[in-house]
Amino acid sequence: MLDHVFRPGTIGRLRLPHRIVMGAMHLNLETRDDDGAALAAFYAERVQGGAGLIVTGGSAVSPAGAGGPGYGVLTDPAHRSALGTAVRAVHEAGGAIASQLFHAGRYALPGVRGVDGPPLAPSAVPSRFARSTPREMTPEEITGTIADFARGAATARALGFDAVEVMGSEGYLINQFTAPLTNRRTDDWGGDAGRRRRFPLAVLRAVREAVGPDFPVLFRISVADLITGGTPELEVLDLAIALADEADALAVGVGWHESPVPTVQAQVPAGAWARHAATVKHALAAAGRTGVAVIAANRFDRLEQADTVLAAGQADFVAMARPFLADPAIVAKSRAGRAGAVELCIACNEACIDRSFGDEVVSCLVNPRSGHELEFPAHRTSRPARRYAVIGAGPAGLEAARTLARAGHQVEVFEAAEGPGGQFRFAAMVPGKAAFGEAIRRRVGELTELGVTLRLGHRVDAGDVPALAALDGVVVTTGVLPRRPRLSGAELPHVLDYPAAFADPAVLGPRVAVIGGGGIAVDLAHLLTGSGRDPLTAGDFPAGWATAERSKVDVTIMRRSGRIGAGVGASTRWVVLAELRAAGVRMLTGLAYREITTAGVSVVDGAGAEFTIPADHVVMAAGQVGDTAVSELLSGAGVPFVAAGGAAAVTALNAVRATAEGLRAAHEI
Ligand code: SF4
Repeated sequence: MLDHVFRPGTIGRLRLPHRIVMGAMHLNLETRDDDGAALAAFYAERVQGGAGLIVTGGSAVSPAGAGGPGYGVLTDPAHRSALGTAVRAVHEAGGAIASQLFHAGRYALPGVRGVDGPPLAPSAVPSRFARSTPREMTPEEITGTIADFARGAATARALGFDAVEVMGSEGYLINQFTAPLTNRRTDDWGGDAGRRRRFPLAVLRAVREAVGPDFPVLFRISVADLITGGTPELEVLDLAIALADEADALAVGVGWHESPVPTVQAQVPAGAWARHAATVKHALAAAGRTGVAVIAANRFDRLEQADTVLAAGQADFVAMARPFLADPAIVAKSRAGRAGAVELCIACNEACIDRSFGDEVVSCLVNPRSGHELEFPAHRTSRPARRYAVIGAGPAGLEAARTLARAGHQVEVFEAAEGPGGQFRFAAMVPGKAAFGEAIRRRVGELTELGVTLRLGHRVDAGDVPALAALDGVVVTTGVLPRRPRLSGAELPHVLDYPAAFADPAVLGPRVAVIGGGGIAVDLAHLLTGSGRDPLTAGDFPAGWATAERSKVDVTIMRRSGRIGAGVGASTRWVVLAELRAAGVRMLTGLAYREITTAGVSVVDGAGAEFTIPADHVVMAAGQVGDTAVSELLSGAGVPFVAAGGAAAVTALNAVRATAEGLRAAHEI
């Protein structure tokens, strides 16, 4: 099992213990004012958990190349010092680390430090992602940028890095030079395929010259831009063969930030992009370039999938990034035969990719310690074991319980429902979100291993108070209850709250109106329109994604104000809305509700027109209120407790906040 993953391998002179590379992730720790301490702790914990080679998040080779305010720049002494701290920590832990050399080009977001004027790019083609139009680079700026990459590589080598990776994919500067869409130059740097690939080849040659022949150099190449006007596939393969003269490995990236096809979201079947790595590998083999390692990347969440790709000869290594946020010990657990105990990345992007575009520290919904390793040390307590109760087994409660149990305490969890997971149980029912259910099962498995007692179907009441009062502490994570807006007709028998709708979706329809347009309403619409369809496989993707397959259930989502799907992360919202549109879901905003009748929901639109949305069932998904019954009971009895998640406050509540509060509560109690 996992024989192919756990075969040692080499990238240039770098000898690696297995075939998994921890892929680049921008963490927003890179420029923190701590001389790299948090960054070092983050990386070191991954090495201790079995990571072999780590690729850093992109370090800009010049201030103009920084992707946003949280990006480190290699010309900045403070960033170099922070990287040096991280390199030493990785080496002390026994790992290897590559510096990713980065230039955002037209993807530089507003607010980039110390740079006036628009972003730089091969041509002045507006970017929907950055919401700006870049300025065309002069020939001098192009040669200067090549020199910046070379200087960045030399800096990385001097800092003690074991390798460098040139970022040439995902629509950043180098990729912008290869794509006809963004390179409209008519000079030596644009025009035909040969002139459009001149920049990546010049960058790689300059980097190679700067670090010498023996220093491992990786190049991340975009094999499928997934955008109209992207680099044609034959040109990509010619570029890959040409890059193989100087690179020790080609990491295979796909997609741009502006691509209309998702690449890393939960809706993408795992391993969907492996075939592109195979295409590169075959092209290199046919050209006699077999000494270059090919690294498959994007949308792998388990080592078993990586093993399959490696066994099929589609790639020599597999890069995984987010799974190392979800479980720093993914490699060590899998090597020990405990792959089923790995905390699963559910591809939600909520605490990682969505945050990487801003300045909040990147973390993980299922592992909120990620990025906060110094704040929440993992070791067991030196105090004698204490006895705690956690009331509520939703995301916050499960996190609090495992944190306390990992620290060596005795923990008992009470949950009023018959199953654990809270609102996660609803998400787990939605097509494409099965990983949510697996994540709950694995968390319960960990709690069982840690000796936590789970009392399901136990609603805490006054009879429990004396026993709770005798404990060392109580964490209340009772979550939320649906909010029922005051609306005439809301008491009619065909009106349900969303938990009842999720409990028995098969009885709903054929016409369903959902009052509310947030994440829960969107999930419910997916469930009602997508149930019974076969999940997409890697082979069907992307052709089979969001195809116009109208559902038998006619669903309307509506809200008073704001956008449908508000609250769903930016990297995922457009994907789920595209799926709902394809399924024929009507999405209405700016409505005032008049009443619910047996015919449906009577509304008035922004223009004052009154009409009825016909519905056999009306589902209320219009927000939540905290379930504070237990908190009130304990307060009344004078029993101290710490509340987290919905039991503490519902404003801006989501699963990321809930799990983070569960972690914090367990440390503060
Ligand atoms: Fe995976 Fe979601 Fe965690 Fe990101 S936040 S690493 S997508 S589980």
